[in-house]
Amino acid sequence: MREFYATGTTRPFRFRTKQLITLKRAVLKYEAEINRALYEDLRKTPEEAWVTETGLLLQEINHALKHLKQWMRPERVGTNLLNFPSTSYLYPSSKGVVLVIGTWNFPLQLLLIPFAGAVAAGNCVVLKPSEFAPATAAVIERIIAEIFPKELALVVQGEGAEVVPAMMNTFRFDHVFYTGSVPVGKSILQMAAKELVPVTLELGGKNPCIIEKDADLRVAARRITLGKFTNAGQMCVSPDYLLARAEIKDALVDLVRGNIAKFYGEHPTDGYGYGKIVNEKQFDKLVRYLSQGRIVAGGEYDRPKRFIAPTILEDVAPNASLMQEEIFGPILPVFSFRTNAEAINIIGSNPNPLSFYVFTRSREKEKEWIERIQFGTGCVNNSAWQFSNHYLPFGGVGQSGIGGYHGKHSFDVFTHRKAVMKTPTWFDPAIKYPPFKGKLRVLKWILR
Ligand code: NAD
Repeated sequence: MREFYATGTTRPFRFRTKQLITLKRAVLKYEAEINRALYEDLRKTPEEAWVTETGLLLQEINHALKHLKQWMRPERVGTNLLNFPSTSYLYPSSKGVVLVIGTWNFPLQLLLIPFAGAVAAGNCVVLKPSEFAPATAAVIERIIAEIFPKELALVVQGEGAEVVPAMMNTFRFDHVFYTGSVPVGKSILQMAAKELVPVTLELGGKNPCIIEKDADLRVAARRITLGKFTNAGQMCVSPDYLLARAEIKDALVDLVRGNIAKFYGEHPTDGYGYGKIVNEKQFDKLVRYLSQGRIVAGGEYDRPKRFIAPTILEDVAPNASLMQEEIFGPILPVFSFRTNAEAINIIGSNPNPLSFYVFTRSREKEKEWIERIQFGTGCVNNSAWQFSNHYLPFGGVGQSGIGGYHGKHSFDVFTHRKAVMKTPTWFDPAIKYPPFKGKLRVLKWILR
């Protein structure tokens, strides 16, 4: 890969667009196979697979194809008086050989959207899919091996804890893009630090969701139900828990309960479109959470099927373990609050959430909450959908990650912008050269 990158083959516009078109065609050609794999790994339906995986990926590729020429152009920026009459430019240049590490919950798009960004930016890419979505990982490996030479794109399978350090400790990548949990994110950062490798860390956290009493409760309940229980709650942007104003909490819970029945039927195990838990370890952890509060909806589970019903919990102690860890499953604790301080206190025990949601009709409250809480991405009167808008950079802050991607931002992640100043030779004032004695006044006028 290093040698191939050094030939400069990957850098021209035509090469990049050709690879993106090849990827797009392959994803469309193998859509049925991808869908089968996503069903096997996580019980995703073709509709869900399209909206949350394949379609999102294609949207990103199409967007890049449409704008790449412009993104690749050197950008002219201003120049200060001290450097008159120079002109200044930012030259986008690819980084080199990069590593993209994906996770299992959206095993296709969380690996291939950054991949598309890296290819659009002219890099060679090593892809490491999650071992916990093996069917999808296998399809991705087959597709990539079929359509790209291995010097350009290579899928490496295996246990992350072995394969990733083996690669990162023996080879200096020019960028590492990691999606997954906070503890592994920290170890990626440590490995990267040894060789000063730049990283993007797309991590998780507990996403709070505030519902003010002036919110449109019907709409709020619908959007919360969808955001929480899609992919059986195994979504980094799911509302992790609800903070509802005391006056409307019961009404909201009733509405969410009603929506669960409407969306997934009375028996979601056999229903169409309700996901399964990725593995037994995760399943057992989630089942333990069920006893940490009063179940007011759902609560059923079935280990052989790795099924946990969409569940609402109340009366959860703030120090219960499910309030100290990201839930990442179909369990929704609901708290009521009377003063903002109460809500802020609960949020504060898991600071820097990846996402934050507020439902309100009031502009002031919306502004107040957005300014008060430090978070990565969020929505007003919606949940989770911000992820699908490629004009917004997606990423966390502090504990929930470093950097953001999607759309042009993905291109930027894998691009270094060389800052270049060009100075004409016809003007070369003596003020800039020694001896400087007696020039202070003029220098003070030029530079201030
Ligand atoms: P995971 O176990 O699939 O791990 C993610 C990747 O890291 C895998 O490719 C795995 O092979 C690799 N890995 C595992 N252990 C490693 C180690 N010790 N060293 C190096 N690599 C290793 O997934 P997970 O970590 O359980 O992911 C769930 C988390 O991901 C949740 O916290 C969720 O919020 C977060 N997430 C974040 C985003 C986002 O875009 N910010 C998206 C999805 C999930």
